[in-house]
Amino acid sequence: MKTFPMFLRMDGREVIIVGGGEQAAQKARLILKTEARLTLIAGALDDELDAIVACGRAGHETEPPTSDRLARAALVFAASGCPALDACIAGLARAGGALVNAVDQPDLCEAFTPSIVDRDPVVVAIGTEGTAPVLSRQIKTRIEGMLEPTLGGFAALAGRLRGAVADAVPKEGRRAFWHWAFDGPRRTFTAGQERAAAQTLKAAIAAGAAPSGNAGGSITLVGAGPGAPDLLTLRAVRHLQEADVIFYDRLVDPAVLELARRDAERVYVGKAPGAHAWPQDSIDRVIVAEAKKGRRVVRLKGGDPSIFGRAEEELRAAAAAGIRAAIVPGVTAASAAASSLKRPLTERGATQRLVLATAVSAGPAALRGLAQALTPGTTLAIYMGLGAAAGIRDELLRQGLPASLEAEIVSQASNASETICRTTLGDLVDGIAGWRSRMIDGATIPHPAIILLRHPARAADAATLPHLSVPVVAA
Ligand code: SAH
Repeated sequence: MKTFPMFLRMDGREVIIVGGGEQAAQKARLILKTEARLTLIAGALDDELDAIVACGRAGHETEPPTSDRLARAALVFAASGCPALDACIAGLARAGGALVNAVDQPDLCEAFTPSIVDRDPVVVAIGTEGTAPVLSRQIKTRIEGMLEPTLGGFAALAGRLRGAVADAVPKEGRRAFWHWAFDGPRRTFTAGQERAAAQTLKAAIAAGAAPSGNAGGSITLVGAGPGAPDLLTLRAVRHLQEADVIFYDRLVDPAVLELARRDAERVYVGKAPGAHAWPQDSIDRVIVAEAKKGRRVVRLKGGDPSIFGRAEEELRAAAAAGIRAAIVPGVTAASAAASSLKRPLTERGATQRLVLATAVSAGPAALRGLAQALTPGTTLAIYMGLGAAAGIRDELLRQGLPASLEAEIVSQASNASETICRTTLGDLVDGIAGWRSRMIDGATIPHPAIILLRHPARAADAATLPHLSVPVVAA
């Protein structure tokens, strides 16, 4: 380590920024988060900096700075936008003994500005000693996802109660108290129930201990999205990071599990090749049993848990056992397929309705339901439909839908191995067969795959929809 990270007290101390343009403004935005006194030294200021000075949040000097002037500041930024001038300012500052940072010139810096995750008073600073600013911003993005936006507010509340906890909770129970506080009450706070969180904390302080039992246990159905890990929501990542145990199934990409806490237990409840899938009631039982132990259970499901994910059984089991349960939405397969096809699922005037359906129980009633749903002006996304393609085609044609309706099948949407088949309703089965024969192994279309059928409001729209001119390169 050539540098040493420290948090400097800034209240009442002076920070000088030399420069009046965008680079200076970037540093000013950072420093204005602190309680430092800011002075801008520049012949002229841009509008943003001008406004900062006008409202009294910074001083402004126009005289070129001397070494002595810079030495009076706790920190000097050389941010004029001119590298040669910045080098000069850095030299003057150093000669006066000031800590100096020169924009984009690591060799001239005594101090580096980190990437900051700001949950004041919780602050995470990431530094790379000036070697890789882009990397530090990527790390920042990951950490932003791990720390809920309300964390600072909760940490401040905990700080205010620190003395009361020290008085009321015996020393041997204090660590457990704070573990509990930063778990259950923190989550209550995160959910927007700030007053309830404070009341729970105060009740525990009055009782002299954290409540015992399974109060921390919970079940969260988390949407893992269509596969690509960067399609997870920030909330999903946070739950993965906080989980004690994760139950996941076949559709969850291994790269998504990488985002889980290293020591979280992982349990596969999907169907392994040659083995049986876990029956749903066994899953219901085991997730409830784990939550009853006070553990945070994540049930990770492909796509969005609320769409063809059997979420209702698991939510019912949680409710019956009195366990807190929640759903974290995810990017569903139809949305991922739209991204693969580079076109929207609805187009104004042409397809005003989107129907998500499944053909998993491909009985006559289910198939008739598909035909009834596919009225003019509808995009129909059929989940789990590949195996029933012949039945779907026959029924839709029998119900009078045009054979020329556009059909698109996207397999493994959002994954590196995604493939696209463009065909028509009439050619659905042959199209899939031809597609299959073009596959590298000449055999199977990789699962999962979704079928999109589009019935424009007017037949003429089919010819003019914009996507037809957008080439889609099948993988
Ligand atoms: N909850 C999931 C759907 C589960 S049903 C979601 O919201 O996406 C399983 C079906 O979803 C699969 O048979 C397939 O039709 C579809 N599916 C899931 N992931 C997919 C993907 N990456 N690409 C294409 N289809 C997918």
